[in-house]
Amino acid sequence: MKIICIGRNYIDHAKELNNPVPKEPLIFLKPDSAQLLPGKPFFYPNFSKDIHYEGELVLKVGRNGRHIEPKFAHKYYDEVTVGIDFTARDLQKKFKEKGWPWELAKGFDGSAAIGRFIKLPKEEPIVYSLRKNGEQVQLGNTKDMIFHFDQIIAYVSQFFTLKMGDVIFTGTPAGVGPIVIGDKLEGYIGEEHVLSVKIL
Ligand code: ZN
Repeated sequence: MKIICIGRNYIDHAKELNNPVPKEPLIFLKPDSAQLLPGKPFFYPNFSKDIHYEGELVLKVGRNGRHIEPKFAHKYYDEVTVGIDFTARDLQKKFKEKGWPWELAKGFDGSAAIGRFIKLPKEEPIVYSLRKNGEQVQLGNTKDMIFHFDQIIAYVSQFFTLKMGDVIFTGTPAGVGPIVIGDKLEGYIGEEHVLSVKIL
């Protein structure tokens, strides 16, 4: 399976990291070894001193396809959850400065925490949140996305064949921040609890 991610998909988050708002989707991949299955803890890696959480809606691709037109894109997903795009911000900063790829800062083992998938809610917008140690730290709303699900699928599928079981991290809203050992992160879609990750 592929783990496809979009960066800077919410204006407020692009601004909080002093990044320009993109005109086309900024896409990167994580390897399948980055997947952190539901209920598994995240082990703080020793190569970073500044791991951040980014709580995001994650789509599961339900059928294979390429060159998907936006009007048909909705047929390719029907499940969603909350995931965490764990990011080694210190490494990412260094790589950005050098113009290097981000993979090591974004694709390390366990960096793609994925919650329990639920049926895509029929009504938009979808509101989701991330809590750290019981306190809400991020609140996302699909109406604030720069590129919506169908646009992401149409864009990405021009380059990568989408396969059943691939997942798409759709970008983080504002409120990203550091984690420390002992933290507990929990994701909600509306009021429904879908993700829980303990930091060890
Ligand atoms: Zn992200």
